[in-house]
Amino acid sequence: MRKQIAARILATAMVILAAVSSNWAQGSLGKAQQVTGDRFGLSVRTRAGANIYSVRQPSAAMLSAIDRGLSDLFAVARKNGYNRRLNYSDYTIYIANADRNRDSAGTYSPDIAVGAAQYAGTEYDKGGYIYAAGMVIGFSPMSFVIAEHTKDFNRVSDVVRYEGEHLVLYHNDRRRYSETADHSRGGGHPILK
Ligand SMILES: [Zn+2]
Repeated sequence: MRKQIAARILATAMVILAAVSSNWAQGSLGKAQQVTGDRFGLSVRTRAGANIYSVRQPSAAMLSAIDRGLSDLFAVARKNGYNRRLNYSDYTIYIANADRNRDSAGTYSPDIAVGAAQYAGTEYDKGGYIYAAGMVIGFSPMSFVIAEHTKDFNRVSDVVRYEGEHLVLYHNDRRRYSETADHSRGGGHPILK
């Protein structure tokens, strides 16, 4: 079951090259807004200390699901010998409006629509864009975007862990990062086992 979910979640790691900005937060926030078309007017911290930007007040269930996903990520990273950048406060997560709430099979699956880029012409391509469960926004600082959920919070934890895998690999094992960053050539999540 978990494997099925993993296959269904297309958590892309399209690298949006950061425009050099003296204000990193504004740079990251600007990119997140550009990718999603949302305005992230709220900023909060999770109980464990991760940085959250959101469109509206995130639910307690969203926030604790994010912390759970990061906990899972840190545990599996350590198991693989990756110890850099494993602090909750190292992570910035944007909670965007979902562009769809159900996948083509009718399953609850809040996702964001993003430009197809390297996925153009693949099975994921919906006509210039693809639906993604999450997407990496930047590596320094580390940030990614996910869609707001109102249920199935285990999926939120999974997406957080999966997007986080790209960030952990980037800072701990650049070669493995490169080999796994682009899912259009195959491969999915989890990467770390
Ligand atoms: Zn991915």
